[in-house]
Amino acid sequence: MHVSDLIRTKGADVVTVSPEDDVRTLLAVLAEHHIGATVVVDADGALAGIVSERDIVRAIARRGAAILSDAVSTIMTADVKTCTPQTHLEELSRVMTDGRFRHVPVMVDDRLAGLVSIGDVVKSRITELEVERDSLSSYIRTAST
Ligand code: AMP
Repeated sequence: MHVSDLIRTKGADVVTVSPEDDVRTLLAVLAEHHIGATVVVDADGALAGIVSERDIVRAIARRGAAILSDAVSTIMTADVKTCTPQTHLEELSRVMTDGRFRHVPVMVDDRLAGLVSIGDVVKSRITELEVERDSLSSYIRTAST
């Protein structure tokens, strides 16, 4: 399975914020969409970073509620690991496990084309294993009759 298979089912829509938005706005966006991370894009639509609830937790622990008025750019991760629709899901889970993050933006020609979470990867791996198990069970049943 590749990232393109996931994007086909979950869609390519990505919730984004701008680097100039404040953290209060970011919290509202995460709450409204029931998500834990969002991609940060600049006014030209170029990838500027990624920011997750962990960044907010760390920033509050460091500097308190004052960060709510700070720009998203001050707490986001600017060095973003990305993938393409051609990336294999096994490789993607390795990247997520090694990098200790749960979200990876999908890029096509430097444009945002989706976002994959660890939940998407696990869900698709479970479906794959269930299909494999069903076909093996059916093979064993056929062979023993
Ligand atoms: P997450 O597990 O996605 O909540 O993210 C944990 C930490 O990794 C946070 O500091 C994020 O800003 C950062 N992060 C999340 N996704 C990525 C990514 N694709 N590339 C680099 N850093 C990331």
